[in-house]
Amino acid sequence: MDAVAKIMGIPFPKLTMDQTLQMLSDVVERDGSGLFHVVTGNPEIVMSCQQDTQLRSIIDEAGLLTADGIGIVMVSRMKGGHLPERVTGCDLLFKLLEAGNRKKWSFYLLGADEATSARAAEVIRQTYPNVSIVGRHHGFFSQEEEARIVEDIRSKAPDFLITALGAPRAERWIHKYKSSLNAKIAIGVGGSLDIVAGKVKRAPQIWQRLHAEWLFRLINQPSRWRRQLILPRFAVRALLYRER
Ligand code: UDP
Repeated sequence: MDAVAKIMGIPFPKLTMDQTLQMLSDVVERDGSGLFHVVTGNPEIVMSCQQDTQLRSIIDEAGLLTADGIGIVMVSRMKGGHLPERVTGCDLLFKLLEAGNRKKWSFYLLGADEATSARAAEVIRQTYPNVSIVGRHHGFFSQEEEARIVEDIRSKAPDFLITALGAPRAERWIHKYKSSLNAKIAIGVGGSLDIVAGKVKRAPQIWQRLHAEWLFRLINQPSRWRRQLILPRFAVRALLYRER
């Protein structure tokens, strides 16, 4: 059986959440092999990659691509590729914090607005007392401020750089500064810090089990409707796409 399922030409490794966690845990313990970039691949990223060759090469160069969203998993199953389950940035972040609490990992939080970033750090410190938040910065910075932020991350040398700048900005940012960040692993996690901080409510388990998290988000953040139009477009294009 293939180790990857192709979605519109992009190879997604067939990994469960537990296997992903094991892989990242091994990377943290291994040490010294450069930054390991994790891309949480959602339909928007897959669609953008069809025209954007630079984004495509960022994804090809990443250490790991995860199936961020039920749309990716469903399409893989309909086309016989069978991704085992979704591994979203948000779920992965919570699992990494749990594991980090046992293994005393360090995290740097980059992204979200200042109040959300501060609140997320506070919630993590209270909930996962053995995790170190070695630094944080909000995500509304100018290009001139970037060098100082990169230097801050470099000097803190976190195990994980959690990048909540929205996709694909996070992916581009991580790639651009890959060699300077001095983090073991960097992950783009979309709006997950908003959820950690309690600013945005995560869909309850029942909605997630019914694969209706997208509907919950739409009801709670109706301003996202335009962005969500991409989901049916993605499903149609991905199902018709002839994988080679
Ligand atoms: N964000 C940021 N800087 C920006 C724009 C957005 O830090 O210039 C943050 C925003 O506050 C939110 C996250 O990036 O926390 C994007 O969330 P969204 O759910 O839109 O992420 P996506 O699903 O697009 O990856």
